[in-house]
Amino acid sequence: MKGHIARKRFGQNFLVAPGIIGAIVSALNPARTDTVVEIGPGLGALTEPLLERLDHLHVVEIDRDLIARLQQRHAPQHLSIHAGDALGFDFASIGSDLRLIGNLPYNISTPLLFHLASYGQQVRDMHFMLQKEVVERMVAEPGCADYGRLSVMLQYRFWLEWLIDVPPDSFDPPPKVDSAVVRLIPKAPDLLTARDAGRFAHIVQSAFAQRRKMLRNNLKGILDDAGFAALGIAPTLRPEDLPLEDYVRIANYCSAPASR
Ligand code: SAM
Repeated sequence: MKGHIARKRFGQNFLVAPGIIGAIVSALNPARTDTVVEIGPGLGALTEPLLERLDHLHVVEIDRDLIARLQQRHAPQHLSIHAGDALGFDFASIGSDLRLIGNLPYNISTPLLFHLASYGQQVRDMHFMLQKEVVERMVAEPGCADYGRLSVMLQYRFWLEWLIDVPPDSFDPPPKVDSAVVRLIPKAPDLLTARDAGRFAHIVQSAFAQRRKMLRNNLKGILDDAGFAALGIAPTLRPEDLPLEDYVRIANYCSAPASR
């Protein structure tokens, strides 16, 4: 692996399948002047072909050894290296109309997706490799076991498209799980109809706190029986039965005490 020992704590599974690498870069299909940000460039499997198609590329990487290698290989006028943790990185500091791409470190993929969800305004699109199981949760529909907080919060902000299935032998070392590439495109602001985004997030988190319990229990102190009745939502439903629109309706009902 080009003299680098993969670090488990940084979720390092390096892409080695040329066909998959080519398919991911083709899915992004960058124009030379696009502002592309790669999360976790690692040994450069995606970075190198991206640099061939771009005037400039930004990368965010946490591993100092990998940062040093990238610095040696690429001049700063082509590659901006943001050294540090993507979980705390302010993507807005790079600019707007960003195109994010990455074979993400699987050990932090869910918190990273929640962090990135707050940059809908600055982002044009995102193309990510993730565990297949996470992509299944992202695109899941109401009534299925995978539907949860991640599905509701990401489907609220993004159009999601499952692009490519990727087997473990596409990586070195191979991960223990199957992977998939997904595209996220932020929804237009007029489709984000929760009046109070923070309250919406809190309600979704509370609703799924115990997914086997009824909504009446999980939303105790947030929505009473009169509220359920006013909204026409059965309090005996479980959180996975409720579509995204109903979570938005609950949030807006709770944000508008004057209308009760
Ligand atoms: N892009 C490379 C590839 O496809 O071969 C590497 C992908 S590897 C799955 C994940 C990369 O993310 C590694 O380079 C790792 O060091 C980096 N990484 C892990 N945790 C990170 C974090 N919190 N912030 C930024 N980069 C991180």
